[in-house]
Amino acid sequence: MSQTKLVSPEELARQDEYAALLHEYWIARRQEPPRAFVHTYGCQGNEADSERLRGLLARCGFGFCNSAEEADLALFNTCAVREHAEDRVFGNVGRLKGLRQTRGLRIALCGCMVQQAHVAEKLRRSFPFVDLVFGTHALHRLPELLYQMYAGGRRVFEIADTPGEIAEGLPLRRDSAFKAWLPIMYGCDNFCSYCVVPLVRGRERSRAPEVLLEEARGLVAAGYKEITLLGQNVNSYRSGDYDFPRLLRELDAIEGDFWLRFMTSHPKDCSPALLETMAAGRHIARHLHLPVQCGSDRVLAAMNRGYTQAQYLALAALAREYMPDLRMTSDIIVGFPGETYEEFRETLTLVDAVGYASLFTFLYSPREGTRAAAMPDPVPHAEKVRWFQELTALQEAKAAAGCAALPGKILRLLCETPGKRQALAGRSEGSQMVEFDGPTELIGQFVHVRVTKARGWLLDGERILQESPCPQGMGAIKHTP
Ligand code: SAH
Ligand code: SF4
Repeated sequence: MSQTKLVSPEELARQDEYAALLHEYWIARRQEPPRAFVHTYGCQGNEADSERLRGLLARCGFGFCNSAEEADLALFNTCAVREHAEDRVFGNVGRLKGLRQTRGLRIALCGCMVQQAHVAEKLRRSFPFVDLVFGTHALHRLPELLYQMYAGGRRVFEIADTPGEIAEGLPLRRDSAFKAWLPIMYGCDNFCSYCVVPLVRGRERSRAPEVLLEEARGLVAAGYKEITLLGQNVNSYRSGDYDFPRLLRELDAIEGDFWLRFMTSHPKDCSPALLETMAAGRHIARHLHLPVQCGSDRVLAAMNRGYTQAQYLALAALAREYMPDLRMTSDIIVGFPGETYEEFRETLTLVDAVGYASLFTFLYSPREGTRAAAMPDPVPHAEKVRWFQELTALQEAKAAAGCAALPGKILRLLCETPGKRQALAGRSEGSQMVEFDGPTELIGQFVHVRVTKARGWLLDGERILQESPCPQGMGAIKHTP
């Protein structure tokens, strides 16, 4: 892992000066503070970045609104992992061209997709109505870039790569008052052959444990009920004497009633020490997202994943030995270049053997600059779609069979949102969504629910009153008498 450099206090102070200059700019133009619409594509890491972007915008005097139509500035935080996310960004931005002309809407794009030189070039040439483009390394410089755009009256492009930096102490506007993202590291050093992340997010760098522990203590004190630690490969977290299990243990020692989650765990770095820490944890959710990607050893090697099917299955078995009630989820890519149907069937065998609670399934799509993009890819798209459907059908049947065993059991849920079938929806420690009736004041609270019905993977329940927030591993499934 490369050395972590902090963005200097002088640089952060310089950005505060730009924020102050923007305030003066609004005042000089006798302008109401402008309103920003921030739209996020992609993963939780992007959502966490958007919370910092909103914090910085607020510091620059912006208010917020929920659509580009009402906004003075539309900021799209983009994703490069999924192809359709890229198409959607171009489509959505194209549709705003009219608002740029009629109302002077300013349009800005940032994040992984625009960090790629070919995308920035396409925006520069073919999207002249886009005002501001900045990559993942320039997030903390948003005040300066906005000032250049507004006061300088020019288009601003900033996608330079500044390796190994972390900006601490940025202002944050969190989306939720009870669920928090806590990025513990940035970047990735793994270079899986299909993946663009290392190219757009740079090398792995970890945040200091003192900073993370302080932030987590603050979140628990502020009443947050769930903290999700984020990183592309949390198992390679390292800062001084701290590895990931040690960081997790110290976070788990914080007093309070909350769940700790983390993602993503790379199987090649998932150690018995981590499983032991999870099993002994008071707050650590018994849920492991352990992306396998595929079941064939040849394809796994071509993907540069660093493990075999047998090693993965042994790891999954060990995890269940430590935690018999563990729920596992995974990511799978269907149709990697050169994958044959026989090799794909090994993925089906693996999925059947592990018994995942749910899967995130992706059709392979080539990403410019990755090694896989240059590999021969003879299988027709329609054929890959058939495989994809076969996998989805298997997983749906497995998940439904798992859910069919739940009626009568009691789950502890974090009540998250209004439901679709019933008043409320909550998520269990193992990430099962259950709907139930109750007052909206329960949103953001832990509740106990007895599962009454399972239809496929849709679960309904009824709320029961039950004390004791942490029965052996908080949300552990308990059998009713
Ligand atoms: N760091 C995480 C995942 C990051 S990307 C890990 O290693 O597990 C999230 C998921 O997107 C990946 O797990 C993979 O399944 C999928 N993905 C990434 N690149 C892809 C591509 N080129 N085509 C299809 N799916 C891809
Ligand atoms: Fe991409 Fe692999 Fe890194 Fe995950 S571990 S972000 S899939 S390169």
